[in-house]
Order: sequence, then C-alpha cells, then structure tokens
Amino acid sequence: MRAEGTEQELGRIIDGQAIARSIRDELAVEVAALAEGGIVPGLAVILVGDDPASAVYVASKERACREAGMHGVTIKLPAETTQQALLEHVHALNADPAIHGILVQMPLPRHIQSDAIIRAIDPRKDVDGFHPINVGKLLIGERDGFAPCTPAGVQELLARCGVETAGKECVIVGRSNIVGKPMMSLLVQDARWANATVTVCHRHTKDLAAHTRRADIVIAATGRPGLLTADMVKRGVVVIDVGINRVEDAAHAKGYRIVGDVDFESVRPVASWITPVPKGVGPMTIAMLMKNTVRAATLIAAARGETCSFAGRGIA
Ligand code: NDP
Repeated sequence: MRAEGTEQELGRIIDGQAIARSIRDELAVEVAALAEGGIVPGLAVILVGDDPASAVYVASKERACREAGMHGVTIKLPAETTQQALLEHVHALNADPAIHGILVQMPLPRHIQSDAIIRAIDPRKDVDGFHPINVGKLLIGERDGFAPCTPAGVQELLARCGVETAGKECVIVGRSNIVGKPMMSLLVQDARWANATVTVCHRHTKDLAAHTRRADIVIAATGRPGLLTADMVKRGVVVIDVGINRVEDAAHAKGYRIVGDVDFESVRPVASWITPVPKGVGPMTIAMLMKNTVRAATLIAAARGETCSFAGRGIA
C-alpha cells in the first residue's frame, strides 16, 4: 500500500474481530488435523485472586480454546496463594504432557514476584512469550521461540490488511515489556512483514508529535486515552491502537466506556487504516495465544519425533 492515501483510501477500519475470527477458524482446522495424529493442544491458565477484569479475560481464553477443539484448563487460586505454591503449580504444568501452553494471568498479587513465576515456566510452553529465553530469541531473530501475543497480533493485522512494513517509518508509542519492546523486536527483524525503521517513544521523548508526524505506521500502547490526535499524524498514516482504557461516561449503563489511546474520531479521516477500540487489537491477543499454543503442541510433538505440520512462527 502507499503511505499517502488518496481521498477514497482514507478512513478504512481494520476489523480485528473479523481477522481474529478467521485465525481461530484456521486454527480449528489445524487442531482437527493434529487430533487425527493423537495430539490435542492444551492451554493452562492460572488465575490468582479475584480481579474481575482478569476473570473475564481468563474465561474468554478458556472458551476460545474449547471452541477450537483444544484442551483448556483454568486453575483458580486464592489471592493469598504463596509464591512457592504458585511455583509448584507451574512446575506441575511444565511436567504435564497434556499441557503445551502455560499462561499466568497478570497482574499477580503484590507479594508474588512476577519475574520469578515467568522464569519458572518451561520456555517451550511459554505461549505468552515473556520468558527471557523467548524475549532473547525474538530480539535476535530466532524463529523457534514465542512472540508475545499482543504485538504478534498487531503484526498479523498489518499483514492481513496488506500494509507493507518494509522500509516504512514505524513509530511505537510505549516501551513496556509486553507491548512496546516486543513490537519493536518484531518489526525491526530482517523478515517478511518487518524490515521497518522503528522508533520507540516513551514519557521522556522530547517531542512526541515530531516523531508521530513523520510515521507511516503509528502503534500506540500507552494507556493514555486520546493521546494521539489528528494534528500528530500525517495524511495516509496507518494507526494501530493497542490501548484499552476505561473512561467515565454517565450515558453508558455501566457508567464508563472503553476507549483506546487514539482520538479515533479525529484521526480516522486522515488515516488510511485504523483499528477501532474495542474490536481492533483486543480480539487478536486471544487468537495469537491460541496460535502460539498450537505451535507449542506441534513443536513439542516434533521434538518427540511425532509428526508435525505447523512449526513455523506465525507469519514472520
Ligand atoms: P504500560 O503502562 O506498561 O506502558 C505504557 C507505556 O507508555 C510506557 O512505556 C510509558 O512510558 C508510555 N507512555 C505513557 N504516557 C506517555 C506519554 N504521554 N507519551 C509517551 N509515552 C507515554 O502499559 P502496557 O504496555 O501494558 O499497555 C499499554 C496499553 O495497552 C494499555 O491501555 C493496556 O490496557 C493496553 N493493552 C492492550 C492489550 C490488548 O490485548 N489489546 C494487551 C496489553 C495492553 P514510560 O516507560 O516512560 O513510563
């Protein structure tokens, strides 16, 4: 695609929900093929405490697994669970042959060190891609690791919309370990749907708008509602909004609504492509989690000498 859009090319919505649906349908076919060889990909999710938002995410992950014919297990633990008890659950899942992917839902209660838990997960089952081995593999371009689901989902959205990334100026706003940094690692690789010139911005960036204005692709992952406005982007830009923010809204029954980091109404008319919030990046995260779990199952089976038809990392 061209960076500068003509009038009719502006304002196109990237339908993350529809794209995620296609991925999940493709995975269901893959899972059925694996089942014929006696392999049922299994995902275990551990939820510690009773944070309502986390409970909703976990329930949707389990539902999505079952729907695709995968084996989904949720382990719910009380908020006062000790770090040692949680580690023992992780070790048991590492050893469980029916489980190929392990996800510990974040955030964890304050008395538990997230890093210690992440490092305890077998990297071959680390479908969240947060283990330092997988973080390192992603950065150095080794293809047999796992990329974190949200940035992998963003790359997949770009690919499936045919948004060329090679040689493009890509500005990522946000440098967290779960979104901004792995997004940078993915897009900077010498690979298809990568090869971008990547700039990563954060709170210390001096003139954010000067960076975003020259971008062909802006990826916003800050948790700041409406941070990116129309005056901060050039005509024809591709905008990916990772943000999920609650803002008070008395007009909504719940008293709030969900918005992204992008001022959607003002930016859409100047963007060639833009993701909405909700139904943009959000649904891709679960789809990529499932994709990583199916890959984990095939890689583990291949390592055991069993047949494997789906071992490459995603699209890259
Ligand atoms: P973090 O809070 O961990 O990181 C936010 C990043 O944004 C930081 O690097 C911060 O900079 C930067 N930032 C904050 N304010 C500004 C600013 N004014 N200018 C420039 N940079 C700024 O958030 P996450 O990465 O975990 O999440 C980001 C958003 O994405 C959230 O809304 C979250 O809910 C959402 N999210 C959505 C997912 C999905 O599935 N769609 C999955 C994960 C997250 P600094 O480092 O200097 O503090």
